[in-house]
Amino acid sequence: MIAVISAGGKGTRLSAIAPNIPKPMVPIAGTPILVHQVESLKRSGVKEFVFLVGHLGHVIREYFGDGSSFGVSIRYIQEDQPLGSGGSLYFLREGIKEDFLFVFGDLMFDVDFIRMMQFHKEHGAAITLFAHPNSHPFDSDLILQRNGQVHGIDSKNNVRDYFYENLVNAGIYVLSPRLFKDYFLEPAKTDFEKDVLAKEIERGDVYAYHSTEYVKDAGTPDRYESVGRDLLSGVIAGRSLAKKQKAVFLDRDGTINTYKGFLTDIDQLELIPRVAKGLKDINESGYLAIIVSNQPVIARGELTVPELDEIHRKLQTLLGKEGAYYDDLFYCPHHPDKGFEGEVRELKIDCACRKPGIGLILEAAEKYNIDLCQSIMVGDGTMDIQTGVNAGMKTVLVKTGLKGEDGKYDAQPDFVIDSLADIQEVLSKL
Ligand SMILES: [Zn+2]
Repeated sequence: MIAVISAGGKGTRLSAIAPNIPKPMVPIAGTPILVHQVESLKRSGVKEFVFLVGHLGHVIREYFGDGSSFGVSIRYIQEDQPLGSGGSLYFLREGIKEDFLFVFGDLMFDVDFIRMMQFHKEHGAAITLFAHPNSHPFDSDLILQRNGQVHGIDSKNNVRDYFYENLVNAGIYVLSPRLFKDYFLEPAKTDFEKDVLAKEIERGDVYAYHSTEYVKDAGTPDRYESVGRDLLSGVIAGRSLAKKQKAVFLDRDGTINTYKGFLTDIDQLELIPRVAKGLKDINESGYLAIIVSNQPVIARGELTVPELDEIHRKLQTLLGKEGAYYDDLFYCPHHPDKGFEGEVRELKIDCACRKPGIGLILEAAEKYNIDLCQSIMVGDGTMDIQTGVNAGMKTVLVKTGLKGEDGKYDAQPDFVIDSLADIQEVLSKL
């Protein structure tokens, strides 16, 4: 694999911390961001690098040379005139004939790029972008997508009077060399997002690779501090999907949102007070937050999949306003009992994913390389506790919603807390 790193940024906003060095050379825990990037990319098998450098580019050249001391090969493209975020890709027109990674040099990450490249190849897109939820979707540009295909980017400057998915473009791409047919035809100023990405989105040729891995820019003093802490605590490396992950599996109704029986009316969705704080604690802990939910209302024909998707966008919007998110959500649309009016016949089956079955958990474990022995299941019903036991996880009962008083299963929880808001009590004991 080849990685092209846009390393021309000046780092103006960090000039107090690191004067007169390009942004990618700003040290995090004593080592330049660019070194952290090269090391992560190398772990995914990237040996060939192109650094796009500008003003102060000599600092980078002197540090890395030809890359041999890092066990890789590096060549440089020197931008004498600023060409925007994409203009210097012109100089790669002749040199690159395969799909390649395009990465912005101010990002701290540890990503399994083999997985991302595999996703890209499966979809055959012109551009695959790395997408993830963040803790401030309300002031971020958001990706609008359906089944991975991106159909728009909603600028943070727009007024948002709709429920949105918490999905943000991280600044890491896989690009197909076929882009050179239509773009980068001359060495001219090019804004990658506006002049290339937006046009390819219109053509339907952009896919979003949804990952839980750590990617954050270190471009402001605040973020610089938090990224440094995350590096030292091991959160950045720990989140790489090349490594086994640990997760908090969460029930939805009665655990996150107020229990109202089977929810079919979006207006009835409201967060249980303070649960966003609990999710935030999970988000900052190194555990993934994954919702697993039975939705037999789909099989019974009481709710359509687009309506359920909209309910989940509302859930993400409400959580996002409080700085919290979940990493993914899996649901079972099935129901075993046939013979009702309006039902969806093909979903009326005895499936393996309906809790207390563990099909949803196994699906998540496969997708995100999760070690169930290090994971926990949290819910308000005895069925959730039984699900956790069936999957070999530690279990946590929350005294919201059903409060564990439904009497359906005998499984006993390992921990009992008043509310998901108090999950930190459990996480600190694991
Ligand atoms: Zn199912």
